[in-house]
Amino acid sequence: MKVNIAPIMEQKGASLDFNLETKCPPLELQQQEVTCIEPLRLTFTLTNTGECILLQGRLETALQLTCDRCLQPTVVPVAVPLSEEFYRAKESELNAKRAAAGDPFNEEDDDQDNWYTGDTIDLSSILKDSILLGLPMKVLCHPECAGICHICGKNRNEDKCQCEIDDIDPRLAGLKELLKDAKEKGR
Ligand SMILES: [Zn+2]
Ligand SMILES: [Zn+2]
Repeated sequence: MKVNIAPIMEQKGASLDFNLETKCPPLELQQQEVTCIEPLRLTFTLTNTGECILLQGRLETALQLTCDRCLQPTVVPVAVPLSEEFYRAKESELNAKRAAAGDPFNEEDDDQDNWYTGDTIDLSSILKDSILLGLPMKVLCHPECAGICHICGKNRNEDKCQCEIDDIDPRLAGLKELLKDAKEKGR
């Protein structure tokens, strides 16, 4: 996604406000393709600080992922703040940077800095990274998701299986072992 910054390029302190919806870029999460199920809602301001173009704002969307416990499709809302600096580079400098990075086709610079040429800023990789950073470490359909029974494979949120009778309180598990031992020794 590219934005035109021509109106603020020549004037230090000038800014542009954006409030828009755009299609979610394709994302890869743990080698799997994931997609947003809502458009990206972007609210941000671009400011010409004199040294760089400063982007500040917020991104919101929602993704459909898989619950880590019960493996059911789960909607995960994403809301992340955006704060990035973009520095102007000449096309030739940019090519040199990419060459130095070892891969001329690698659009994502290893540097922390973002670069732009001409009068447009490309937000694609910033948006992608922000969405991925905004995802929770553990995806759960519900904080108390009961998960899948490790014995019969049933989704315990939907159906209580019989295996639960055997699935005793972990605080008593030690006792069970002791009883088992005692029984075996008694033989
Ligand atoms: Zn779940
Ligand atoms: Zn079961």
